[in-house]
Amino acid sequence: MIVVGVGGMGSAACYHLAKRGARVLGLEQFNIPHELGSSHGFSRMIRSAYYEHADYVPLLRRAWQLWEDLGRESGRPLLHATGGVYIGPGDSGFIHRSADAARRHGLPHQMLDRQQLAAKCPQFFVPDDYVALHETYAGFIEPERAISAHTSLAMQNGAEIHGNEPVTDWSSDDQGVTVRTARDTYRADQLIFCGGAWSDRLVRDLGVELVVTRQVLGWVQPKRTRLFDMGSFPVWAIDHLDGTIHYGFPILTDSPGLKVAHHRAGPRTTPETVVRHTLPGDEDDFRGVLTKFLPDADGPLLSIRICLYTNSPDGHFIIDRLPKHDRVTIACGFSGHGFKFATVVGEVLADLATTGKTDLPITFLGLNRFIQPQKSF
Ligand SMILES: Cc1cc2nc3c(=O)[nH]c(=O)nc-3n(C[C@H](O)[C@H](O)[C@H](O)COP(=O)(O)OP(=O)(O)OC[C@H]3O[C@@H](n4cnc5c(N)ncnc54)[C@H](O)[C@@H]3O)c2cc1C
Repeated sequence: MIVVGVGGMGSAACYHLAKRGARVLGLEQFNIPHELGSSHGFSRMIRSAYYEHADYVPLLRRAWQLWEDLGRESGRPLLHATGGVYIGPGDSGFIHRSADAARRHGLPHQMLDRQQLAAKCPQFFVPDDYVALHETYAGFIEPERAISAHTSLAMQNGAEIHGNEPVTDWSSDDQGVTVRTARDTYRADQLIFCGGAWSDRLVRDLGVELVVTRQVLGWVQPKRTRLFDMGSFPVWAIDHLDGTIHYGFPILTDSPGLKVAHHRAGPRTTPETVVRHTLPGDEDDFRGVLTKFLPDADGPLLSIRICLYTNSPDGHFIIDRLPKHDRVTIACGFSGHGFKFATVVGEVLADLATTGKTDLPITFLGLNRFIQPQKSF
């Protein structure tokens, strides 16, 4: 089996395949891990009351369990359960749909009015008409460590991983697949593409437009640091009622500052042309939410990092066999919310490559949803 792209999803696929005893070659164009794609910046939020689609919740339950297993196996926790607080005006669709998902799936949660929020999380200053949802099964994952753990354990289980070896071409036929790099040509039975923002370069006839956007991550030094330490402060999100949210994390022990970001598609770009240094205006992407809602965090800027979203047309992931290529599977279009699922995506990809099917609910992530039914008269 060949896995192209050893990032968030590809490293997990290599791990699950190798654990099953498959012969695996993972090919990555850059270092492992690196800061040029979608999986850097020290933390990724995981929440369970997922309102985006009912079938994400069973995937998340499995992902959570696999993150805990991976932490144990690698000797250090990768998922940190801090609880999560989601805040918005009384008519926030984000909060109400999250509460619905929590109720429907029996997830532990609590609705909070403004006073209850102030008692539980005094760091937030919100207008009178705001409400909040607190859920237990939320926290964050350390993405670079997760990629390193998946990759190292894949190698311990016999996988061969090549960094700094870009794939330049591939083909498939009835007998197998051929993958070419600048260094070599490889044959395998199955091919899995986990190319992130480069997916449309790897698979030119996907038939779905993937839009890559430039995203800003910010770190500040809070005015009152202690308030935002792990153990005192949960992961959080604030709904702006315009389809976008700001979100953030507690202070991590080994990356300085408090991290905050705006979840909405940023300016369209490409992985080759994206401006990776800080631009005037980048800080405005997150500063306002601190000033308005978290005044004790509204201190000096520490860092800005640039990351890439790969947006599918409907914001849902794409995990499927490639049409006309029985031996080729693709996982892409994670649309800015995929990392929390990386463990279970790795498991699904290993299922598809080794048995041709999976018991996990991924039908809603198939390519079929983009095919317009033909009108017949
Ligand atoms: C700013 C930001 C914040 C986010 N926050 C969250 C969050 O809080 N929670 C959450 O769940 N998700 C979050 N996400 C989304 C999540 O991080 C992504 O969905 C996830 O990292 C995507 O993983 P991937 O494996 O598809 O991409 P990547 O990890 O980028 O991996 C793709 C890999 O393919 C390699 N590759 C591409 N082409 C080739 C080639 N030709 N040859 C060899 N290798 C190749 C690349 O170099 C890369 O390493 C966020 C994303 C961003 C950008």
